[in-house]
Amino acid sequence: MPYEAEIKEVEADVLILGGGMSGCGAAVEACYWAKPLGMKVVLVDKAAIDRSGAVAMGLSAINTYLGMSGRASYGQWTPEDFVKYVRTDLMGIVREDLVYDVARHVDSSVHLFEKWGLPIWKDKDGKYVREGPWQVMINGESYKVIVAEAAKSVLDPENIYERVMITHLLTDDNDPNRVCGAVGFSVREDKFYVFKAKAVICAMGGAVHVFRPRSTGEGLGRAWYPPWNAGSTYALMAQVGAELTCMDVRFVPARYKDGYGPVGAWFLLFKCKATNAFGEEYMVTRKAEVEKFQPYGSMKPMPTCLRNHAMLLDMREGKGPIYMRTPEAIQALAEEIPDEKERKKKFKELEAEAWEDFLDMTITQALLWASMNIDPAVEPSEIMPSEPYFIGSHAGASGAWVCGPSDAMPDEYKDAFPALYNRMTTVMGLFTCGDGAGASGHKFSSGSFTEGRIAGKAAVKFARDHKDYTPAVSEERIKKLKEIVYRPLNLYEQYKDATTRPEINPNYIRPKMFMFRLQKIMDEYVGGISTYYTTSEKMIEQGLKLLQFLKEDSEKLAAEDLHELQRVWENIHRMWVAEAHARTILARKETRYPGYYYRADYPELDDANWRKFVNVRYNPQTDEWEVIERPYIQIVPE
Ligand code: FAD
Repeated sequence: MPYEAEIKEVEADVLILGGGMSGCGAAVEACYWAKPLGMKVVLVDKAAIDRSGAVAMGLSAINTYLGMSGRASYGQWTPEDFVKYVRTDLMGIVREDLVYDVARHVDSSVHLFEKWGLPIWKDKDGKYVREGPWQVMINGESYKVIVAEAAKSVLDPENIYERVMITHLLTDDNDPNRVCGAVGFSVREDKFYVFKAKAVICAMGGAVHVFRPRSTGEGLGRAWYPPWNAGSTYALMAQVGAELTCMDVRFVPARYKDGYGPVGAWFLLFKCKATNAFGEEYMVTRKAEVEKFQPYGSMKPMPTCLRNHAMLLDMREGKGPIYMRTPEAIQALAEEIPDEKERKKKFKELEAEAWEDFLDMTITQALLWASMNIDPAVEPSEIMPSEPYFIGSHAGASGAWVCGPSDAMPDEYKDAFPALYNRMTTVMGLFTCGDGAGASGHKFSSGSFTEGRIAGKAAVKFARDHKDYTPAVSEERIKKLKEIVYRPLNLYEQYKDATTRPEINPNYIRPKMFMFRLQKIMDEYVGGISTYYTTSEKMIEQGLKLLQFLKEDSEKLAAEDLHELQRVWENIHRMWVAEAHARTILARKETRYPGYYYRADYPELDDANWRKFVNVRYNPQTDEWEVIERPYIQIVPE
C-alpha cells in the first residue's frame, strides 16, 4: 500500500517560511502592518521555534549594534562606518545599499530584545558592555525563546505551523516567475501541507554538511553551524529561478577544535592571542604574505578570511597545533589590578565569564573542556579552521540577489527585478532575509531579525498591492508534488526486504549515504578540508560531473519513516547548494577569499577584473544554469 497522508490546505496573505531570527523579525513586523488591514500572516518551521535555527542554544553576544543613541560603553558608529567595516571584511564586494539599510535600523531591534527581557551586560555607568567595537555582551542562553515569544504573541496560534518541513515552493500555473506558496510535510503526523499566499518570505537559514565535516562517527552532527539548517533557503529559491549571489563566499570559521566553541569573547573581550605550537603569532610572522592580497591585506580590522589564511600558512608547514593562549590572557587582565585581594577576585570573575561564554551558546565546548581536564587559566586550547558553510548573515555572504531600499539601491541594479519591493528576489512575490539575502554579511542575529522586519513590511505592502490576486495551482500539480515528496517512503517499503541489511540495497540509497557521497565530492574536488580548501578549474569540473550522477540518483533516495524523510529532503536541498557553489567558484577566476578557498590555477586576487558579483541562476524551464556578472557599486566613500 502506498503511503497515505491527508492534504491540508492553508491560505494566507503573507507566508513566512522559517521561524529563526529573521523569520521571527518578519512575523513581528508583518503582523504589525497586516492586522489593521485584516490580512493573514502564517509562519511555518520544521522545528519548534522556541529553540530553532542557529540561535537555538543561545548566544553570548549580539554581534551587530551600532550604538547610535550612545547606550554602549563606547562606540557611536554610523551606518556608513558599518558599511566600510563590512566591505573590508568581505574583500571589497558587498551590496552597500542592503548593508546600510540593516545598519540604520538594527539598534532599534536590540532595544526591543532588551524590552522583551533579554539581559544585556551593563557596566558601572549602566552602559551596554561591548565585546568588541560592534558587539554587546548578553546573558543569552534564552535569547531565541525570548525572540520567539515576541513572534508568537503577535501571530495567532492557529497561524503557526511547527514540525512542518518545507520541501518545495509553489509557482503560479499561469506565471512561472510568480511564487504563490509552498508545500511540505509534517514530520510527526501523516499530513501534507499546501500553503498558498500572495507573498512568500523564504527564511530557512543557511547550509551545513554540504562539505565533509571534521567530526566523524557519533560526533558527525557536531559542526559549528547547526546541523538542522540544510540549505533549504538557497535550494528552494534556486529551483524557481531566483538569481543567487556570492555563492562563492562560503564561511570557514576558525573555532575551538572539536567543540566549535566561540572565539569572539576570547579575542575581543579577553584580548587573547593565538599562536602556533612554537609560540609564534602567525598574524605577526605572516604579515608580509597576507599583505600580498592588497588592498585588503593591510586593512584594519583584518578580513576574516585573511586571518584564516595566515593560520593555514603555519598549519601547512607543520607548525600546528594552533593554540588560543588563554592562561596568558587571563593573567594579563588580572594583573591590571594592583590590589592583590581585588586581583584574585577579578581572576575568579574572568574564569566564570570564560565558562559562561560557552555555556550561553556552545554548551558542548564546556563539556569538552571538562572532559579533557582543561582549565583555561592553566592550559591553552587548540583552535582550527572548520569545514565550509553557507551563511549569508555572518562572515559569509551567500544568498539571493534582492531588491534594496528605494532610497539607496543603485539604478544599475533595478532591471533585475520584476517589481521594486525591498528584499524581493528576482522572482515575483518571493522575498528573503537573514541568511537568505546575499552580498550583505555581518548582519548576525540582530541584523537578521532587522532584515526580517524589513522584508516583513515589504511583503505586506506587496500583498496589499496585489490584494485581488489568487494563487492558481492545479490539483494535478499538488498530487504530483505529494507523490514526489513521499516517494522515498514508498521506495523503501517496496524494496527493503531485497537484502538482509536495509541500509545496503541495490534499489535505493539512504539519505546518510547520499550525504556522505555529496560531502566526498565537495571535499575532494571543490576545496574542502582534505585539500586545505584548494581547488582548480579541472577539479571543479570533475566535481560537477559527479554531482550530476548524484542528482540522477536522488530519485532513488529511500526513507524508513518521516524522520528519515526529512533527512532525504535536507540532502536534496544540500545538493542544490553544492551545485550553485561549484558553478560560482568555477566562474570566478581569481582567489578573492584566501583562507576560505584557493583557486590553485588563479592564486592571486585580481581587483581590476573581478571586483564584481558573480551570480548564478537556474532556469527551471530549460533545466540549465547561467552565470550573470553584476557590477559592484560603491555608495559609501572610503
Ligand atoms: P536561523 O535563525 O538559523 O533560522 C532558520 C530557521 O529555518 C530555523 O528555525 C529552522 O528550523 C528553519 N528551517 C530550516 N529549514 C527548514 C525547512 N526546510 N522547512 C521549514 N523550516 C526550516 N549572531 C550574533 O549576533 N552573535 C553571535 O554570537 C552569533 N554566534 C553565532 C554562532 C553560530 C554557531 C552561528 C551558526 C551563528 C551565530 N550568529 C551570531 C549569527 C546568527 O545566529 C544568525 O545570523 C541568524 O540566526 C540568522 O537568522 P536566519 O533567520 O537567517 O536563520
